[in-house]
Amino acid sequence: MTTRGRFSPHAVFSTGPGGGIPPRVLAAPSRYVQGNGVIDLLGTYLSLVPAKRPLVLTTEGGRVRLGRRLEESFRKNAVQGRVEIFGGECSLEEVERVVEVSRKYVPAADCVVAAGGGKCIDAGKAVAFRLDVPAVICPTIASTDAPCSAVSILYTPAGVGKGPEFYPRNPALVVVDTGVIAAAPARHLISGMGDALATGYEARTCYGNPEGRSIAGARMTIAALAIAELCAKTVFEDGMRAVDAMRRGEINESLERVIEANTLLSGVGFESCGLAAAHAYAAGLTVIEALHRDFLHGEMVAAGLMAHLLLEGHPEEAGKAARFLNGVGLPVCLEQFGLDPQKNSQVLMDAMKAAAGEPIVNNEPFEITPEKLLGAFLGADRLGREIIREEGSDAFKRLHVPE
Ligand SMILES: [Zn+2]
Repeated sequence: MTTRGRFSPHAVFSTGPGGGIPPRVLAAPSRYVQGNGVIDLLGTYLSLVPAKRPLVLTTEGGRVRLGRRLEESFRKNAVQGRVEIFGGECSLEEVERVVEVSRKYVPAADCVVAAGGGKCIDAGKAVAFRLDVPAVICPTIASTDAPCSAVSILYTPAGVGKGPEFYPRNPALVVVDTGVIAAAPARHLISGMGDALATGYEARTCYGNPEGRSIAGARMTIAALAIAELCAKTVFEDGMRAVDAMRRGEINESLERVIEANTLLSGVGFESCGLAAAHAYAAGLTVIEALHRDFLHGEMVAAGLMAHLLLEGHPEEAGKAARFLNGVGLPVCLEQFGLDPQKNSQVLMDAMKAAAGEPIVNNEPFEITPEKLLGAFLGADRLGREIIREEGSDAFKRLHVPE
């Protein structure tokens, strides 16, 4: 993975003593709090950071939904929060704008609270880094593993990916309100499950390959590997029940477990174990404009995961994953992405070339070519179509066809 910004974990961790193999490194947030209604206790939790004067970065929607509750919680704890509305894109320009605004605060902000989706969270971490204060993350959806990691994905103001920026510290505190997450559209949770499922398999690839490296360029602890494996296992076991609970507007143990898998287990798992072909496919697919615009990250990772498993020669696991993904409503074939293997062969090849150029693909234990990636991707498409023929695709249709 390329390093940018002012901090490079690779410079710190990618070689061991005497230039030898890198050490095993685990990165995680200092505290993780999850439960129904915990956002009302944010003011209390900030005493652990410790912080009394947060800059709260949130979207307009986040302010409407959470503003009152945050204000009330701050008031009870004599916390002085200032709200800044996030512009919507995690670009350097937006980050600099928020930094400039907050530099004028008297007294200065002593932490950044980012309350929103993936881009708002990533922007919050970037602002906290520049202000040299702790980051506190309150995700409002469970579609992303951004909350726990010490990395942000930056974009141009027009939304084109510019690559990751790394930070020396993970968020000091992550507060996940299950009730807030459950009130968001189910498609976000389901997309996060695609991302979380891949975490387990990608971790296995990175750990199993002596040349495999984590996001920080290090080797991985068995703790992180166990977390990543538990992440995939939890999604498999509880995923369906979590989606059903969300549809009924209920919060049950399965929903709690899947939110934890999508947010904590996936976040620590991917950062401390590393990524491989599934995410390289997902990154490659973003060069296709319509996919970048209409599909969520985890939906592209889901398609990438099936191909990843075929690429590595695990057809049975690919079948198991495909059945699960189709069952919860994630895309399993090209048609669901609005693509045709023949008619769109050129854009698919472009996507595969982009995927083959992703440094994370080097965590695979064999040589990768765009042709090889395409072969597995088309194999995954055939597998997905076969499963749809057998089982239908009601779950996907429910999420994507307006009623
Ligand atoms: Zn991901």
